[in-house]
Amino acid sequence: MNSGDINSMEVNAIKECLLEQKAAILNKSVEFKLEQMNPVQAADESEVASQDINNNISIHLLERNRRSLMMIEVALGKIADGTYGLCEVCEDHIGLRRLKARPFTTLCIACMEEREDSLKSYQ
Ligand SMILES: [Zn+2]
Repeated sequence: MNSGDINSMEVNAIKECLLEQKAAILNKSVEFKLEQMNPVQAADESEVASQDINNNISIHLLERNRRSLMMIEVALGKIADGTYGLCEVCEDHIGLRRLKARPFTTLCIACMEEREDSLKSYQ
């Protein structure tokens, strides 16, 4: 066990955090669906227009939530099979500080920088 390793207590804390985020997103999605099923009766045209804008914003948020949920599921899956906190490229430990700041990250800093460099060279 090296210094970059994270212990099960720390993984559990991150897992709790991920589950909370997941619950919050799911609650929001349910609220959104209920709103869609029971649209508020608009009194005049201007209200209809503002409702459309609200719906567009909601759909945009929903799309973002869907992506967040996917990332949360991937992270939870990694926690379950014990690969959470390991870089997907070099399989080195990502490190607790980085994971706390970016719980969905799948790359260590070195591999991420390398990827960014290779992306830049294509531009
Ligand atoms: Zn790496």
